[in-house]
Amino acid sequence: MKVFNTLSRQKEEFVPINPGEVRIYSCGPTVYNHAHIGNMRAYVFMDTLRRVLKFNGYKLKHVMNITDVGHLTSDADEGEDKMVKTAREQKKTPWEIAEYYTAIFFKDIEELNIEKPEIIAKATDHINEMIEFVKGLCDKGYGYETSDGIYFDISKFKDYGKLSKIDLEGQKAGARVEVNPEKRNPLDFALWKKAPREHIMQWPSPWGMGYPGWHIECSTMARKYLGDTFDIHTGGVDHIPIHHENEIAQSEALLGKPAVRYWMHNEFLLVDNGKMSKSLGNTYTIDDIKARGFSPLAFRYMCLNANYRSKLNFTWGGLQAAQTALERLYEAVLQHREGTEKVDPAELENAMKEFSEAISDDLNIPKALGIMWNLAKYPKKSREIYETLITMDSITGLKLAEAEKKTKSDDELDAEVKSLVLQRLEARKEKNWKLADEIRDGLKQRGYTLEDKPGGTGVVWKGADGFEKKAFVPAEK
Ligand code: AMP
Ligand code: ZN
Repeated sequence: MKVFNTLSRQKEEFVPINPGEVRIYSCGPTVYNHAHIGNMRAYVFMDTLRRVLKFNGYKLKHVMNITDVGHLTSDADEGEDKMVKTAREQKKTPWEIAEYYTAIFFKDIEELNIEKPEIIAKATDHINEMIEFVKGLCDKGYGYETSDGIYFDISKFKDYGKLSKIDLEGQKAGARVEVNPEKRNPLDFALWKKAPREHIMQWPSPWGMGYPGWHIECSTMARKYLGDTFDIHTGGVDHIPIHHENEIAQSEALLGKPAVRYWMHNEFLLVDNGKMSKSLGNTYTIDDIKARGFSPLAFRYMCLNANYRSKLNFTWGGLQAAQTALERLYEAVLQHREGTEKVDPAELENAMKEFSEAISDDLNIPKALGIMWNLAKYPKKSREIYETLITMDSITGLKLAEAEKKTKSDDELDAEVKSLVLQRLEARKEKNWKLADEIRDGLKQRGYTLEDKPGGTGVVWKGADGFEKKAFVPAEK
């Protein structure tokens, strides 16, 4: 299996430290707000990586953090803690905010069929370990104290910048006006912040009351659960220059050796070819997608259809195209499920081999999807094709095995709509065509299409998950 390592900017053969087992760390959400669909692209990528590794026979030990303290509104270690800011705005405690948005996050990823990592680590549960980590860095001469915290001295770590390949000399020359004059180097970052008395989230430390820096959280929790050196670290490309550079500096400074073997980053999701922003009102969430009648799995399909290392442009039209493609895939899968024709087993084996090569080539999922489509469109309808597609869906996670529920008849019909359909059947029996038409037109306006059939009425509508639903209401005797 090959993966693209951001450190070397090359595809490399993946060899885990312990044969048969892969240890992974993924930067998780800062739970001060709804995660947006850009964040979700990062977690679809993380999930795909998990599935491909498992497909290739590896056992996983995967940690994802929940950042519930220390992520400041500015990357320059200034500004307010995002959690505290939202808590103040919503008149809640930061803990209430964290609990609320963490629950929504897990609901969102479940709807996208993203598997939960084996270990979920909350930053506020690991404050003591973080303090120990910072103490260790200070003992080794990497940390220094200022009036507002403990900072990491990047000039002491000669490899600083190796992930993002930043030119430190150039940076220094062109550095913007430094906001904190106590910092020794412009890119020094906070390991620990001292808390003013009124600050809500604070813990005792050797440097007085305070709270951890955002970067130290990931270094500490990764080490606690995965050991000094582990296999893969994931995150979005925005984290390369600051967050991950700082994680490398902290961990390698303390351990004297690299902590991460392979750094893997997903490219950004753009909206209408630009950055999502609150001012443009385009920071969409999974709930926004559902409110417009789309299935979260259509968004998953959209993500899978682009290479994780390419930018992906989100538009509502693009999502509609993804949903239509997914519905067609479900229909094709259903046809093969009922199929009785025979296909040459060698052909299936070949497709499976190509599929496995594609996914193992740095997660080439667009190619893998193409192979699935070739099978789905195969003119002969065969149960073996169905089974092969279901096996392949262990990678794509599009719930192909549940296709029936989504497209076949007799979905749950709203009780009130059902009673109107029954009233209309009654009206027709009494030849009250006027009332029958009125009911039909009223339901049509609400998105329910009626079809008169022998023995009753068929109803077709679009469900909350965005998929077409059908039910049959028999005429009462
Ligand atoms: P955050 O909660 O901001 O730390 O982000 C959570 C994850 O989402 C990180 O891995 C980010 O790199 C990633 N991310 C943020 N915005 C986007 C985006 N527009 N497209 C893809 N990934 C993103
Ligand atoms: Zn992180």
